Amino acid sequence: MGGQPMFIMSEDSQRTQGRDAQSSNIMAGKAVAEAVRTTLGPRGMDKMLVDSSGEVVITNDGATILNEMDIEHPAAQMIVEVAETQEEEVGDGTTTAGVIAGNLLGEAEDLIDQDVHATTIVEGYHEAASIAQDAIDEQVGDAAVDDEILKQVAESSMTGKGTGGLTAESLAETVVEAVRHVETDDGVARDNVTVHTQIGASSNATELVPGIVIDEEPAHEGMPSAVEDASIAVLDVELGVRTGDVDAEYAIDSIDQLNAAIDAEESEVQGYAETVAESGADVVITTDDVDDRVSTFLANEGILVFENVGSSDTKDIISATGATRVGALDDLEEADFGHADRISAENYGDDDLAFVEGGAAAETVTVFVRGGTEHVVDELERAIGDALDVVATALESGEVVPGAGATEIAIADKIRQEAAGIEGRKQLAVTAFADALDVVPRTLAANTGQDPIDALVDLRAAHESEGRAGLITDGEDVTIGDPLESGVVDPADVKREAIESATEAATMIVRIDDVIAAE
Ligand code: ADP
Ligand code: MG
Repeated sequence: MGGQPMFIMSEDSQRTQGRDAQSSNIMAGKAVAEAVRTTLGPRGMDKMLVDSSGEVVITNDGATILNEMDIEHPAAQMIVEVAETQEEEVGDGTTTAGVIAGNLLGEAEDLIDQDVHATTIVEGYHEAASIAQDAIDEQVGDAAVDDEILKQVAESSMTGKGTGGLTAESLAETVVEAVRHVETDDGVARDNVTVHTQIGASSNATELVPGIVIDEEPAHEGMPSAVEDASIAVLDVELGVRTGDVDAEYAIDSIDQLNAAIDAEESEVQGYAETVAESGADVVITTDDVDDRVSTFLANEGILVFENVGSSDTKDIISATGATRVGALDDLEEADFGHADRISAENYGDDDLAFVEGGAAAETVTVFVRGGTEHVVDELERAIGDALDVVATALESGEVVPGAGATEIAIADKIRQEAAGIEGRKQLAVTAFADALDVVPRTLAANTGQDPIDALVDLRAAHESEGRAGLITDGEDVTIGDPLESGVVDPADVKREAIESATEAATMIVRIDDVIAAE
């Protein structure tokens, strides 16, 4: 036919096809996984990320690192999504999922070099992933998931994180206590646990508050700093002369008239204060202003008032105490009051905080995180957030597996055994999947200064003879042993999710052989 070539795309668009497209995508995906590899495990290092405005984040958390890295390459972005999905679904294991995905891509590249077709790789990987899920089921520990095991789960997820001067052990206790507090018949109400950070003390001072903590201060210095057994009125009312009212024009042509106007205003303000005082509330939360004269009066009456409370704090107070929001002072009655065991106001340097403890309506608790600097509390907040997630996951499913690489060793072993029965080139892909999983124990070894190959050989031998073998870090010591006995455990769901999302992303990237990008 010959003739003119036909353009079906804009001349500006960029197109990469075939092997080139595959290898550039694989390379980008691998690079992302490589970026988080050194942070894995108890001896993982931290990363300092500086954005274009100079804002600094110091973290060990895979999802946070990838998120902050501002990755643009579309295939690389898919690995970032693996970490994000992992974070959303189970709250931990983001680095693990990322490095597995990266290694699945690395193995796929070798297979492509050996002329194994992408669809064969994809089939093999899916088959291996399903064997992996069976292997995880087999690794689930027999012991019932009690507080002791939950503490181990929390501690395993926090080791290597910026837990400051605090032993992970006491933080783990706080985390388990928090999750137990919000446990219901239908599972764990994870949303009822919040984390509030406050700079200024050592992380040892981190504690569990049986209630909520908000950034609010009393409207007047003379008010009580704490009220026990509080009846709380929540108002959407301005307690003062409304600015709108003052605009009304008065024709004042004598001192008497002026005095009368002032008296009228005084008595209006006095009226508000008396209405509030007589309602029987001992704590008042209002979303609007409170006139100084009203504050003074209420302070004298021993009433604690918080003014201009933000809408999210107001909502939290309402859900904790069971108060009903009142829009007009005349409508205020006892039935609308919320209740709490104690409401207190505390000052922390530049910050004022209000604690609402023992709210009558909801079992909310707050992990009140302390730390010397902003970077410390921020990283602690992430570590505790992850620990809360994994403890909730482990408690709900009742399933934990050995950590420290033992589960990955067991999965790889089962896959290799079953691979023997798989025909053709697909067998190569199934075996490659097992090889990719070795990245977890290898990296744990490398990050503790061990030779990764030696460690792998020793771990496989120990797995063969003992059935369970991980590379356990305890202080300065690194030993091979049964992680269940040493208390290094991860929720089974963290491993399940990591395998699933890493497999999905890797197979999706491998299948792409044509990248068309608009300029
Ligand atoms: P991720 O983002 O994947 O959770 P982490 O840096 O939290 O990455 O590392 C998690 C890995 O570290 C898991 O495989 C876990 O079993 C392992 N781990 C936790 N504590 C220990 C320990 N004391 N010794 C060895 N491995 C541990
Ligand atoms: Mg972790």
